[in-house]
Amino acid sequence: MVCPFCNTEDTAVVDSRKNVDGDAIRRRRECSACNTRFTTYEKSEIELIVKKRNGNLEEFQYEKLFNGVENAFGGQELSEKKLKNLVETIYLDLKNHGKKIESKIIGETVLSHLKDINEVAYLRFASVYKEFSAVSDFEKEAAELN
Ligand SMILES: [Zn+2]
Repeated sequence: MVCPFCNTEDTAVVDSRKNVDGDAIRRRRECSACNTRFTTYEKSEIELIVKKRNGNLEEFQYEKLFNGVENAFGGQELSEKKLKNLVETIYLDLKNHGKKIESKIIGETVLSHLKDINEVAYLRFASVYKEFSAVSDFEKEAAELN
């Protein structure tokens, strides 16, 4: 935790207690450089929980979504800014489904966004997501776009 007053990284916790509603931990910290005390709140940042095909639950990983979308574009057809905007849009869309979301829905949501933007990216993502085993599947998917 960086000291907000002098930017030193060396700060120590001097006191810890749970928030009134119990969802955050309040910590008093003291900077070892300028000795200023300040308060931080530590909160669980899980906003989305993924229910996988085998029924397991795991924390949603934004990076995974980002990488998946980035790979779909092959790192070329989309600028960094547009890519970030797209992933953010998809993420907000996912959050509309509630706190718990099935991995299947994530894949379908990404596909529905890609479909409007770029056919090649759509097919590339579909091929990974659906784990096409045969070329014929890929061709069938391509045919459905036309
Ligand atoms: Zn300081």
